[in-house]
Amino acid sequence: MIKAVLTDIEGTITSLSFVKNILFPYSKNKISEFIWNHFETDERIIPIIDNVLIEAGQSTTEKLKIDRAIDILLQWIAEDKKATPLKELQGIIWEEGYKEGDYTGHLYPDAYDKLKELKEKGFQLYVYSSGSVKAQELLFQHSDFGDIRDLFSGFFDTKIGPKQEAESYSKIAKELNLPPNEILFLSDIEGELIAANQAGMQTTQLLRKEDYPLKELPKNISRSILNSFEGLYLESVK
Ligand SMILES: [Mg+2]
Repeated sequence: MIKAVLTDIEGTITSLSFVKNILFPYSKNKISEFIWNHFETDERIIPIIDNVLIEAGQSTTEKLKIDRAIDILLQWIAEDKKATPLKELQGIIWEEGYKEGDYTGHLYPDAYDKLKELKEKGFQLYVYSSGSVKAQELLFQHSDFGDIRDLFSGFFDTKIGPKQEAESYSKIAKELNLPPNEILFLSDIEGELIAANQAGMQTTQLLRKEDYPLKELPKNISRSILNSFEGLYLESVK
């Protein structure tokens, strides 16, 4: 019997376009201005600048190091490089965007309704996303439906391991103190579902029409596939 639901974020409960068309362009457009406006007052900025230069194999003592770091960051964005200092800086910039009310964290309304319903039915809800735990919490704190962090009992990111490796899901099950087959994992990505399944979790794939308009729901596959949360039904835990 399923007791906990572990959900992915992007493409599952949040639209891919929110991340791709709102969050990423926002941090890209603000990165230079943000660094120049905050490097003297926000003590997190200079260590990030130094880490950018170290990762790029460059000196951290040159006079124009902020200019250099901004160039490198913009190049990493263009190359879609998943560098830790870039991710950290994006998190800080997104936090400001949420606080300024420049956008709210997108959630599909049917996903929000279902998560609320499952919580009321006694399920423990957890999140596993490649976005940092910090970025996850920001999205839920400033969501389209207000601060909904209380819905969740815990958050996991790739610190626990990569999303397409079974071991990551085994570790999460251990952290949850549940046998894997009592956990339902939800994601849009097949490779993640296969990994969770290998670890013994139950899985349901979400292929949202908004995110995957041309994709037919495959038939004759053992796991269940839905294109909205309306089709997800779980018997109450209570
Ligand atoms: Mg996803």
